[in-house]
Amino acid sequence: MKPVIALVGRPNVGKSTLFNRITKSRDAIVADFAGLTRDRHYGDARLGGREFIVVDTGGFEPEKPSGVVAEMAKQTRQAVAEADVVVFVADLRAGVSAQDHDIARFLRTQQKKVILAVNKAEGMAESPLLAEFHELGIGEPHPLSASHGQGVRSLLEAALEDFDFGDEDEEGAEPDADAPIRLAVAGRPNVGKSTLINAWLGEERLVAFDQPGTTRDAIKVSLEREGRRFELIDTAGLRRKGKVFEAIEKFSVVKTLQAIADANVVVLMVDATVGVSEQDAHIAGYVLESGRAVVLALNKWDATDEYQRQQLQRSIESRLAFLKFAPLLQISAKKRTGLTALWKAILHAHASATVKMPTPVLTRLLIDAVQHQAPRRDGAFRPKMRYAHQGGMNPPLVVIHGNSLDHITDAYKRYLEGRFREHFKLVGTPMRIEFRSSK
Ligand code: GDP
Ligand code: GDP
Repeated sequence: MKPVIALVGRPNVGKSTLFNRITKSRDAIVADFAGLTRDRHYGDARLGGREFIVVDTGGFEPEKPSGVVAEMAKQTRQAVAEADVVVFVADLRAGVSAQDHDIARFLRTQQKKVILAVNKAEGMAESPLLAEFHELGIGEPHPLSASHGQGVRSLLEAALEDFDFGDEDEEGAEPDADAPIRLAVAGRPNVGKSTLINAWLGEERLVAFDQPGTTRDAIKVSLEREGRRFELIDTAGLRRKGKVFEAIEKFSVVKTLQAIADANVVVLMVDATVGVSEQDAHIAGYVLESGRAVVLALNKWDATDEYQRQQLQRSIESRLAFLKFAPLLQISAKKRTGLTALWKAILHAHASATVKMPTPVLTRLLIDAVQHQAPRRDGAFRPKMRYAHQGGMNPPLVVIHGNSLDHITDAYKRYLEGRFREHFKLVGTPMRIEFRSSK
């Protein structure tokens, strides 16, 4: 699972600037779960080949426990509880404040790895002011400048040094055919995730085992369907009873993001009586960016009337247009209807995500597609596509080789994608196309 780094500190020290700096190194996926969380942002980030999640907290004022401020403090405590590493951000120019001491005191009680980042240090890395920050009792202060990008890399190196990221996926590496399919059920609170999981588990001899020693309280559940083994990834709904973190809500954005990143297939659940909300669309956007296979489960179908079904249809068209490749399943987790079709769709999505596309077939398809419709000439350049090979799975990646391929338009790329999808009958998985020009 991707490690989670939480940025904590009083307002104005530069947390948002640091968050942007860290997530910008890659196409930032800033999942902004408006309404569920206030003033918290989640982003995917990468350092070399190591991927992690960053959470920006809205500010921390523990001494004023009321109203919005108390809510923010609660959110911050939750972010700390869910994080693997806390980066405590302070401001070199402002010096050590009383509030910094309060935050440090709180963090010392948390049994978490904490790294002290002293921001706004451009041109002042040698400053004697830096030594003052030792008095917070957090350890060695790391000077950095979020706005200038100085010291950020070494801060992240320090934050991530204890994590084992394993081997990076090699290009085209084939997944083990016997490995269980990792499955995550994602969706807003109350869409019916727990009900679905319980329905699955109720009809099955359940093998659940805790993994002691992990701070994340991870529970893995194995089950078998249609002759395949599945492993359900822990989301908030699978939380162990009798051991609940004080500040953790039932729905956890961090757990949802981690589960999506770790899954092969995501069942994205929507409440059919409500329609697709903006939050549903945010989660869907994250699933798409992460490249996972996805099946849309329209739950509570038993409770919908004609009007709600029309509303649902409209909201799918307007908010989930980018997930056109995902199959739609009408289910009732409560009445246990539609569940067989759901399993078939999950398997189909997984088969699509792990399809094998031989180079001769891809190249033939490419040549046919170009003959049918050639890419437009761009000024002096005419893109010349020579051959294609498969560069990866889950999602399927097609790498096209040739010359002047930078000039190929997005529309043409979509056209090619359509041809590949059609031939390989891909359903329920995003696919990616990359161009590699030799000149
Ligand atoms: P947050 O409230 O902790 O999220 O802080 P912001 O990221 O909004 O930054 C607060 C102010 O500090 C803004 O005016 C930033 O431009 C400024 N700031 C952030 N990082 C740096 C830095 O590295 N150096 C300097 N000099 N200013 C910074
Ligand atoms: P979660 O927060 O996503 O895990 O949602 P829950 O599984 O706790 O379900 C929220 C509420 O929706 C509960 O009251 C369930 O009984 C109800 N619910 C779940 N699935 C269905 C369904 O298929 N039909 C109907 N009518 N209600 C459902």
